[in-house]
Amino acid sequence: MQNAAVPSLLPVYKRIDLAFERGEGVWLVATDGRRFLDFGSGIAVNGLGHAHPHLVATLQAQAAKLWHVSNLYRIPELERLADRLVGASFAETVFLCNSGAEAMEACIKVARRYHFANGRPERNRIVTFEGAFHGRTMATISAAGAQRLTEGFAPLLHGFDNVPFGDLDAVKAVLGDQTAAIMLEPIQGEGGIRPAPEAFLHSLRGLCDEHGLLLVYDEVQCGIGRTGRLFGYEALGAPTPDIMGIAKGLGGGFPVGACLMTGRAASGMSQGTHGSTFGGNPLASAVAGAVLDVLLAPGFLDEVMDRGDHLGAGLEALAARHPGVVEQVRGRGLIRGLKVHPSNAEVAAKAREHGLLTVAAADNVVRLLPPLTISRDEIDQGLEMLDRVCAEMAA
Ligand code: PLP
Repeated sequence: MQNAAVPSLLPVYKRIDLAFERGEGVWLVATDGRRFLDFGSGIAVNGLGHAHPHLVATLQAQAAKLWHVSNLYRIPELERLADRLVGASFAETVFLCNSGAEAMEACIKVARRYHFANGRPERNRIVTFEGAFHGRTMATISAAGAQRLTEGFAPLLHGFDNVPFGDLDAVKAVLGDQTAAIMLEPIQGEGGIRPAPEAFLHSLRGLCDEHGLLLVYDEVQCGIGRTGRLFGYEALGAPTPDIMGIAKGLGGGFPVGACLMTGRAASGMSQGTHGSTFGGNPLASAVAGAVLDVLLAPGFLDEVMDRGDHLGAGLEALAARHPGVVEQVRGRGLIRGLKVHPSNAEVAAKAREHGLLTVAAADNVVRLLPPLTISRDEIDQGLEMLDRVCAEMAA
């Protein structure tokens, strides 16, 4: 029933008054015909751009064959996807789900269950970090801990010790007999494109090994090729985790997520301990497989690395030309952030006026997350638009 006082769509998003009709590679075409260079990629999702021919063909072929059967049966597309994720990563086993938050929920459950199965059920606390974002479920907002996420949703899930990002002494101070795991984004995304220092990540690995804890990475935003390596932690020179959540770019726009883990970390996850109706269905698995076809093709990630270096150099030059607007360039590869002096929302709005889509993040950062398929020429077009934006903002 329509109610004039309540919009039919729950107003939990502050939406920009702009709608798109179609996408072509790195370009989005609005319903009014304007063309935008997409440096947002649906918040790091459309890694292969829009309407990538291989993804379209795979989706269409699978859609005509079989969408969903449930996890009551074997799913060959899912088994192939699992084999490929295992073959391309530290993981020995994977669980498929539908979103980043679900992937991180699975990570939390796997970590707790590991200690339960090893006779230490009291080990259920997880160290997490300020500025983190792991999703919008009760467990993932409790893990991140920020008031803007948790206010009004009490009681939160117990068992998270939230400490400053990068602060090793603070981590050591909260470790105790009840600690189960340490969980972090190797590059904080929503928090403002903040890479964890390499030495910090090595120290966390050392602490986990020393105390029998599990190291959990959230690669929902920084993973799947964005850094020029398949996973962000690899680009940072960091050690492997025991458990890792991925999503976003894995489906290239189709909802799919996954929890990757070692066999040891998975030791508590016996039959019946976790599940998902939709997770890993034939349609999602086929599309994620098609994303991997492109990403893992010889040379593709090297190209991303090259594009990322090109973007990074261009952004450093931009910052040098406009020190009154750009305070700092952050990130790696094609996951970049500009910490700006004016409000990031104003910079993003001005960029839109110039035909460039970006995404705001915390810490007054403007995120630049172009499709991994972007060309050098298209990066230059984006840099030129940013140059005009900065010149106008400075004036
Ligand atoms: N983890 C990280 C690092 C993210 O950036 C996000 C989403 O932005 C999530 C988890 C949650 O993913 P989803 O929105 O698919 O639930």
